[in-house]
Amino acid sequence: MSPRRLACVIGWPAKQSRSPKLHGYWIKRYGIDGDYRVEERSPEDFPAFVRDLARHGYVGANVTMPHKDVALTLSEPDARARTVGAANTLWLDQGRLRSTNTDVEGFLGALDAAAPGWHDHAERAVVLGAGGAARAVVYGLIERGVGTVHVVNRTVAKAAAFRERFGARVEPARWDDLPRLLEGARLLANATSLGMTGQPALSVDLGRLAADAVVADAVYIPLKTDLLAAAERRGLKTSNGLDMLLHQAVGGFERWFGVRPEVTRELFDLLAADLAAKA
Ligand code: NAP
Repeated sequence: MSPRRLACVIGWPAKQSRSPKLHGYWIKRYGIDGDYRVEERSPEDFPAFVRDLARHGYVGANVTMPHKDVALTLSEPDARARTVGAANTLWLDQGRLRSTNTDVEGFLGALDAAAPGWHDHAERAVVLGAGGAARAVVYGLIERGVGTVHVVNRTVAKAAAFRERFGARVEPARWDDLPRLLEGARLLANATSLGMTGQPALSVDLGRLAADAVVADAVYIPLKTDLLAAAERRGLKTSNGLDMLLHQAVGGFERWFGVRPEVTRELFDLLAADLAAKA
């Protein structure tokens, strides 16, 4: 007999996705009559597949590269997905295909777990990067009321576009501005791919940050990036990319399977071991 509720991750490719392991863990833990599968669909096949999601047996899906932008146009996005400009989570709601961007809650959930109350004093935040991850990070910071978000990017025009997208609380900046911007800042988030295994190193002088600053990194390979290791040495609180990935998955699971799952140490260790094995 086939399981009652099915969800999947749709990508091209998608086999490298960690989502099946993650959702599979929760399906087992909560005794759900369901399954989470991998669907590799080319850009040509993606629209028809998504329009027919129910006929394929699915109640919803994660969407990964390169489909996140197109997923937005094929669904009814919430404010997060619309403003971020990408949808990574789809679900059927009484025949309507709805979407959101759970990278926002991934970033915020990980940060809340690592440094509860961080936003109470975060008048200024510095975000490195102006790609997809940075859009979710900046949306989350603005949603939480951070007064000024400095977006530092190699291609400054992309940082400037963030001001158009997110409003006047965003201050676009160049990499050369970074030392000045870090002075006394209480939050630094890396949303570039710098520091990731196989990518150039990320070198930042954390000595300028406030003594109670929090440092977040979206990169999760390696688990402890040089940036996070340096922050720990300075005694700063840190939020890592794997926690962001795990918290990002909560909202989809809840919508598809009706249970709000918990991000536990056991789950973190399971995924960390999986990342280490594939490194
Ligand atoms: P993306 O859209 O391709 O953006 C990449 C960003 O990195 C851009 O701002 C780019 O600057 C910058 N960059 C790349 N190489 C650089 C270099 N040599 N020097 C300076 N800047 C450089 O990628 P993304 O989807 O945002 O992903 C960024 C990172 O976040 C990746 O490591 C990804 O795995 C991670 N991520 C993690 C999660 C999670 O749940 N933990 C979720 C999403 C993404 P330019 O604009 O100048 O090219």
